[in-house]
Amino acid sequence: MLSPMAGRIPEKFIDDLLARVDIVDVIQERVPLKKAGRDWSARCPFHDERSPSFTVSPAKQFYHCFGCGAHGSAIGFLMNYDRLEFPDAVEELAGRVGLKVPYEGGREAPREDSTDLYKLLDAAAAFYRRQLEASDRASAYFEGRGLDASTLARFNLGFAPDAWDALKNALGTNAQRIALLEKAGMLTSGERGSKYDRFRNRVMFPILDRRGRTIAFGGRIIPSDRPDRESREAGIPARTSRQDAAPKEASDKAEGPKYLNSPETPLFHKGRELFGLWQVREAHAKIPRLIVVEGYMDVISLHQFGVPQAVATLGTATTRDHAEILFRQCADVYFCFDGDRAGRQAAWRAVESVLPRMRDGRQALFLFLPDGEDPDTLVRKEGLAGFEQRLREATPLGEFFFAELGKDVNLGSLDGRARLAERARPLLAQIPDGAFRDLMLAELDKSTGVRVQVAAPPSDVPSKPRGAKPAQRSLVRAAITLLVQRPALALALEPPWSFAGLRQPGIPLLVELIALCRARANLTTGALLEHFAEREEAKALQKLAVVDFPGGESEARAEFVDAIAQLERQTAQQRLDDLTRKQAQGPLSDEEKQELRALLAGKAARS
Ligand SMILES: [Zn+2]
Repeated sequence: MLSPMAGRIPEKFIDDLLARVDIVDVIQERVPLKKAGRDWSARCPFHDERSPSFTVSPAKQFYHCFGCGAHGSAIGFLMNYDRLEFPDAVEELAGRVGLKVPYEGGREAPREDSTDLYKLLDAAAAFYRRQLEASDRASAYFEGRGLDASTLARFNLGFAPDAWDALKNALGTNAQRIALLEKAGMLTSGERGSKYDRFRNRVMFPILDRRGRTIAFGGRIIPSDRPDRESREAGIPARTSRQDAAPKEASDKAEGPKYLNSPETPLFHKGRELFGLWQVREAHAKIPRLIVVEGYMDVISLHQFGVPQAVATLGTATTRDHAEILFRQCADVYFCFDGDRAGRQAAWRAVESVLPRMRDGRQALFLFLPDGEDPDTLVRKEGLAGFEQRLREATPLGEFFFAELGKDVNLGSLDGRARLAERARPLLAQIPDGAFRDLMLAELDKSTGVRVQVAAPPSDVPSKPRGAKPAQRSLVRAAITLLVQRPALALALEPPWSFAGLRQPGIPLLVELIALCRARANLTTGALLEHFAEREEAKALQKLAVVDFPGGESEARAEFVDAIAQLERQTAQQRLDDLTRKQAQGPLSDEEKQELRALLAGKAARS
């Protein structure tokens, strides 16, 4: 879990941070938790389930799912849930409690690199914004598309001038910054290695991440000064042609494709980002629904016309990652597609991405647009009310699923019904266990008369360990378990620890843990597991962290002290055996003889 960059943040700081943040607050903001005894519980956000097996322990400061095994500290949760990189998760938490993250290694640190990348892209967005204000032609383009000033501002729209090096000259003031521009995907290389602006003569759409930072751009070519078809059209707010539907469609070779996106960069992975999501989140305390459309202008027009829940994928089909991100925001997701054959094919790909995400309570609906229309043209033509009406008439996932699957199947014949069942089976098997899946299976039964057996979705759900007696666990294991659950117990042990010499599995780890827990006061279970995140022991430690230990603080302390005392006796016995064996082979030194006598005396005193 610790990225190579993470070493740049001192571990001491991580501990302090985790001691100040409450994991319950962090998770509660994202997943509704219910109090369950000392802990909090919820249905797991990382796997599909009907009954809650996700628990958050305020005492241990970590979360754990008994279903899928997901677990970690507050940092780990943010990494998994918000999909943040380690340093970003640390930054996020530090921000909450007003701490500044110290980075070791100064300005050359890799971590500074990504901070610089964000800054640079923000600077690029500001640069494009200024260029838009300075360009009558670009301003006229947006005006022609009917966008008002507040929309331009909300989406921070801009303009990349018709030049090879406008951005490069403005921001690439030294070699390091030119390298960063390249890393951010803002420059492209010519055949002879010359570097120039990737985006030229395009109106610019900044793509923001879920924290509102610019991570990439989309650019749409605009007509040059010479009058042509499009600049005449630009004066007509209600377009009738589909100019924006296919970002990949190439036009003029010299100018490149009509739509151009940033390439994949360390900050931008198009399969995980949605254009407009930041603006949707800004507009709502609680997002009621999301509407997935195809183009930048569709998103922007819908927002301007009173549908501020529109987002777009970035030149890709809806991925499973997208589906999960969408459903994490809200339960109802609408997908808008063209009504033509290509549109229905795209819709089917969305179905395939969405099915594995269809936990109970989630709803996916499909809206097919009339020929030649897109959401941008439609909302201008029919207004908010018309668009809302179309949303109300959208086709639910189940209906679309069976309509598409049964399209060329004759349900009047046994053969046809069998074929439908055959096609549906692998798809329905991907739906998470729940009422929706049951309904879909029942529907299939009804239309085919074939009883379909569907295997449960693949999962490696272990049986619930809670309450299982940790029988036969060794003393070392017991000591480690107690320590992982209550790191402060280590303070009860003053060095030297004679048991460090005991030849038993787990002893080196126990010694390491004791030293760690003593060195770092207020270490929580979550922080401790964070230390071991990259180690092979991580999995075992995390299992021990959730072993149910009956009793409170004093019982735990007594058991721990007792376990250590027993280990020390075993160490004494081990030494006694060693010396006895050695004595059988030859004479002992005077020190050894003395030691042996002391060991024997100690043993006699105990028995
Ligand atoms: Zn889970």
